[in-house]
Amino acid sequence: MNEVCRVVGRLAPSPTGALHLGNARSFLLAWLSVRSRDGRIIMRMEDLDHPKVKPQAAQQALDDLHWLGLDWDEGPELGGDNAPYVQTQRAGLYREALEQLQSAGLVYPCICSRRDVENAQSAPQEGEDAVYYAGTCRGRFDSYAAARDLLPEGRLPAWRFRVAEGSICFDDGFCGRCCEDVAGSRGDFVLARHEYGAGYMLAVVVDDAAMGVTEVLRGDDLLPATFRQLLIYRALGLMPPEFVHVPLVVGPDGRRLAKRHGDTRIAALRAAGVSAERIIGLLAYWCGWAEQGEELRAEQLLTRFDLKSLNPKPVVFTSNG
Ligand code: GLU
Repeated sequence: MNEVCRVVGRLAPSPTGALHLGNARSFLLAWLSVRSRDGRIIMRMEDLDHPKVKPQAAQQALDDLHWLGLDWDEGPELGGDNAPYVQTQRAGLYREALEQLQSAGLVYPCICSRRDVENAQSAPQEGEDAVYYAGTCRGRFDSYAAARDLLPEGRLPAWRFRVAEGSICFDDGFCGRCCEDVAGSRGDFVLARHEYGAGYMLAVVVDDAAMGVTEVLRGDDLLPATFRQLLIYRALGLMPPEFVHVPLVVGPDGRRLAKRHGDTRIAALRAAGVSAERIIGLLAYWCGWAEQGEELRAEQLLTRFDLKSLNPKPVVFTSNG
């Protein structure tokens, strides 16, 4: 196949906790979407979120995904043309992008809300992403140093992205046309927590563009983040990928599947003797592509994969299956 036309997807786990049935389903869909079109898959470890990163979680995620039958062409253990594949090793690229935005006057130093800055370090999850920023520090400082002088020892100003007025739209591969007026709904958002750092929004854009990713398929909890990412693509003069946001698996309370809903970690199910085929069968059943109780290997789903038949409602997990 012509390399130029080949789909390039990525699996981008954050080593902040164990892989569970919910994120496994999103990874399976991302894998199927690319592999069913003979595309390439990149594995990237999104470990920027230092306080929440757990030792062993990165290796465990790779092991769990392999055990489930997913594979990739490039990644931390395999190497490849786009190395390194671990975000903490890619700081130089984020710094260059930040400098480009600084020179263009598209970011400004900010000394507000520590919590906002901390949250910006990782992909926004439920309840962390609702903040609206009124632009208090916009136009306030002539330089980064001037902002730093106002902060106590040990605290550094963040960099915020200056959001222009107006709506930004994209055509989602599953959800259709989506638009948001980021200036009105969220305001200027945090890109980096210190002078040369990078938070999730900047890092994910820089990496997807640098790695030549053409399709980002992920849970729809990240759909709202996409508008901000598109603003960054535009500001850096980069070409965005196709975005496909799929429904999440939620607990009976309607919230994203998590520990409170019981132990659905892949490693725990494996340790309890549940087979990978049984788990893939369950994930496929949730998608509407298998009978209840069917046991399947991931590759057997390549011919059943069809986003058009994927149920648009969130899957509700109950512990009795
Ligand atoms: N690493 C992020 C997460 O696990 C996903 C980032 C993305 O798909 O954009 O939540």
